[in-house]
Amino acid sequence: MKSIEATWQDVQQGLLTFTQVVNSCLTRIEESEHCNIYIEVYREEALAKAKKLDEKVSNGEALGSMLGGIVALKDNLCYTSHTVTAASAILKDFVSPYTATAVQHLLDEDAIIIGRVNCDEFAMGSATGFSVYGATLNPLDTSRAPGGSSGGSAAAVAAKTCHVALGSDTGGSIRQPASFCGTYGLKPTYGRISRHGLIAFASSFDQIGPFSHSIEDISRATQVMSSKPCAYDSTSIHRAWNTTKPNTNLRIASFSHLASAEYCNEDVQKNYHDTIEKMKACGMTVETKEFTLIDYMLSAYYILTTAEASSNLSRFDGMRYGHRSDKAENLEEVYTLSRSEGFGKEVKNRIMLGTFVLSSGHYDAYYEKAMRARHKVRSFFDAILEDFDAIALPTSPTTAFAQITKDADGVEQYNADIFTVVANLTGHPALSIPNGPGNDNLPTGFQLVGRMFEEQQLLDIAKEIKPL
Ligand code: GLN
Repeated sequence: MKSIEATWQDVQQGLLTFTQVVNSCLTRIEESEHCNIYIEVYREEALAKAKKLDEKVSNGEALGSMLGGIVALKDNLCYTSHTVTAASAILKDFVSPYTATAVQHLLDEDAIIIGRVNCDEFAMGSATGFSVYGATLNPLDTSRAPGGSSGGSAAAVAAKTCHVALGSDTGGSIRQPASFCGTYGLKPTYGRISRHGLIAFASSFDQIGPFSHSIEDISRATQVMSSKPCAYDSTSIHRAWNTTKPNTNLRIASFSHLASAEYCNEDVQKNYHDTIEKMKACGMTVETKEFTLIDYMLSAYYILTTAEASSNLSRFDGMRYGHRSDKAENLEEVYTLSRSEGFGKEVKNRIMLGTFVLSSGHYDAYYEKAMRARHKVRSFFDAILEDFDAIALPTSPTTAFAQITKDADGVEQYNADIFTVVANLTGHPALSIPNGPGNDNLPTGFQLVGRMFEEQQLLDIAKEIKPL
């Protein structure tokens, strides 16, 4: 699929209309139906918007900066009068009364929203197998998972059904599926994009971000989504888009020891080191750095995010929000039965774990220690990024693994998040770059973590090194 800008040029030259662009996306959505990517396709709406934009073009009116780009939404982003369920039975048929700030900005700038895509329930998972709609398959190899939790978004881009798909990243849910499906995926700086209208998982970790085959489209969508302040998310920070200084004397810190047999498959190791050599050949200075805190990251991440999730998900109680059991005979049962029936196994595991780590006897032993680890790693990354423009590490230890079922044990997958959870603990922006195929011919990923609010720097570096 061409980039938004290239498509726009074709439209301007009269080679294409937006209606044709939408129609070809709809055809590819049909062709990839066996992958179970879309939960809902907004066929008529998308065509109506395309028609409007085509009229604008023929009237010589200027278009907003999304230039008619086709966008898919993860099923945890609110869009007014549209169903949003976080892939959970507890939110079955829930219709959103408002639109997420990020989505609204895209609409205001003439994006065309084409549909709602599958994900793991409440964005908890790594394979898009924990969904009430069934598993999504990787369009590059249907025996494999597309990654998760934003696997539907990555697959939507890989199947060329849209220019950009939005996902959310709490511990890697944009970067890991991007790596499994061979696309770019950006987790912006924490606070860069308002979380208003994103169904919360772990609020101090969650960020909305884009997937695309085009670096320019990643940049365009992120700029638009963060273009205005948002009064509804007090953790959002409105900052001007930082365009980079010239790409000379770029300094990269490489956590090369992570691309070793201890942590990664052979093909991920090889492609990582090849890209590091390529960076040197491009004139970048690459220095190897040790990351000794790495072995604490998964524990810190899973303690803190489950704690936050247990609190965030308490609103789904059958009274305020969500499915209400018809078997309940008293108030207590309304809560217990509604939640037992509505939540899937993995979500229940995390709520249990979260309430445990927050409970009075265990708070100091788990939650407080994990917070200390979080502060430590944040200071460590800040210190490195004073001297370096970016930190390099792999995105995921393997290529796409086999799809798992709804009832599988989530814990087995937790270890594979080791390289992505770090940037959510620290809040720094992080980009996954397609990094050439593994032995199984499926893509691997290369990850760059940058200074706060310097997303463009990462995109510029990515542009320079290009995929292998
Ligand atoms: N795989 C991670 C988890 O299950 C990441 C989830 C996410 O980023 N939403 O928690």
